[in-house]
Amino acid sequence: MSKSAPLDERILEELRQIVGPDGVVIDPAERAVYGYDATPGHRGRPDAVVFPTSTEQVREVVALAARERVPVIPRGSGTNLSGGTVPVSGGIVLALTRMNRILEIDEANLTATVEPGVITSQLHRAVEQRGLFYPPDPGSQAISTIGGNLAENAGGLRGLKYGVTGDYVMGLQVVLASGQLIETGGKNVKDVAGYDLTRLFVGSEGTLGVITRATLKLLPLPEHRRVALAIFSQLEAAARAVSAIIAAHIIPATLEFLDRGTVEAVEDYAHVGLPAGAEAVLLLAQDGPREAVDREIERMAEICRREGAGEVHVAASDAEGDRLMAARRYALSALARRRPTTILEDATVPRSRLAEMVRAIQAAAERHRVEVCTFGHAGDGNLHPTCLTDERDREEMARVEAAFEEIFEAAVRLGGTITGEHGVGLAKREYLPWRLSPATLDVMRAVKQALDPQGILNPGKIFAEQGRRRRVVHAA
Ligand SMILES: Cc1cc2nc3c(=O)[nH]c(=O)nc-3n(C[C@H](O)[C@H](O)[C@H](O)COP(=O)(O)OP(=O)(O)OC[C@H]3O[C@@H](n4cnc5c(N)ncnc54)[C@H](O)[C@@H]3O)c2cc1C
Repeated sequence: MSKSAPLDERILEELRQIVGPDGVVIDPAERAVYGYDATPGHRGRPDAVVFPTSTEQVREVVALAARERVPVIPRGSGTNLSGGTVPVSGGIVLALTRMNRILEIDEANLTATVEPGVITSQLHRAVEQRGLFYPPDPGSQAISTIGGNLAENAGGLRGLKYGVTGDYVMGLQVVLASGQLIETGGKNVKDVAGYDLTRLFVGSEGTLGVITRATLKLLPLPEHRRVALAIFSQLEAAARAVSAIIAAHIIPATLEFLDRGTVEAVEDYAHVGLPAGAEAVLLLAQDGPREAVDREIERMAEICRREGAGEVHVAASDAEGDRLMAARRYALSALARRRPTTILEDATVPRSRLAEMVRAIQAAAERHRVEVCTFGHAGDGNLHPTCLTDERDREEMARVEAAFEEIFEAAVRLGGTITGEHGVGLAKREYLPWRLSPATLDVMRAVKQALDPQGILNPGKIFAEQGRRRRVVHAA
């Protein structure tokens, strides 16, 4: 869809009728804030930002947009790292942050039913107060919304043991591009009546429907958790330790990797006691019954030492464990202080290829003379090569782009994928054909065409325009 015509006063008035005057923002400065997200280098400008407070309002806004053929870009907190909420064709940014109620915590069925604008960590706190557990925990949990997590199928630091957002969704309420409302799944643990539409909307990046409610699966809160830090002077030794832990039939709750540059940046920023000069650090956590946790954390420490860790430090208290886990969450903020632009990417490989992937990242960075630090979910093979750069420098940005192109090529060559959790959005759409066959892409386009024949929902995302092969990093 090319740029839509600006919304005329008649449409704006109808929008105000639906959501109330304070639910429609047209002031240019305020609108500009909704023209970008956490992805550097991609910007657009919506014609209006609309804040619904109910499913019925979402339904009416989308029906109006369908009638007038106006793009609708669903948006949570805008923390995505793939340009997924950038309004490339103008239109209405549908900000779902006012639909932020936890509607029910059902202890008999172990489910929570929530509106899409609920902040992820708010849900964590609400269920944990009742001894329950919602495992998906993206690094952005303090700001991201459940709707955004669902639409990106977000992962997180507990993904290795507990899986990703999609593994915890049982049912959805979705407003389709026509303005019609459907419900998928529900509280039944088993339900195979028809196609699994719930899974179809998970990870659909706002292109197939607007999620207005979700029923999520909860678990009992683990009784105990322990955290450890293993310090390696050789990258290969850290990678070997990851494989050896899994091969020992231990599935840690968290198994994160930080390279030298990331460790130094985090230490400089947060002073949590990370060692200077280590080539790699593994952050390990286990949770569950106290006895099993103690046994497995000791066993993991032993494996790390055997594989060459110079030092393994097991946190003595919950507070120290929390501090070490927080260090990992600081990684992006710590790196972001170093240069004006931080591009956090998301290359994923089978975990047995981890060391090769880190080496390939380092080689690409050196070849193209750009600074890349790497951290990520080692246990999942999900790495975040993070480039510290300056988007105003076009020459440097061209080198950054070339380096990332090589990094994604390497990921695919090693049997991996172009994104493990951040989604395709705008940033990766030119790379999608590297990962999917033409027939698979055709099926996806057919689904999009069937559900959104006018192409009004989040246009320009996931699928590259015909003839474009590479992404273009726009100037500031
Ligand atoms: C510091 C930091 C750490 C991060 N760590 C992780 C991590 O560990 N794991 C991970 O997976 N991601 C991570 N992310 C990326 C990001 O936080 C996730 O993608 C998150 O799920 C986005 O949530 P959001 O509410 O900000 O969604 P937004 O960015 O607002 O939207 C994301 C996508 O979802 C669509 N969308 C939003 N709401 C709806 C809805 N209700 N219905 C339909 N579509 C909708 C949008 O159109 C867009 O395509 C991180 C980001 C940052 C900045």
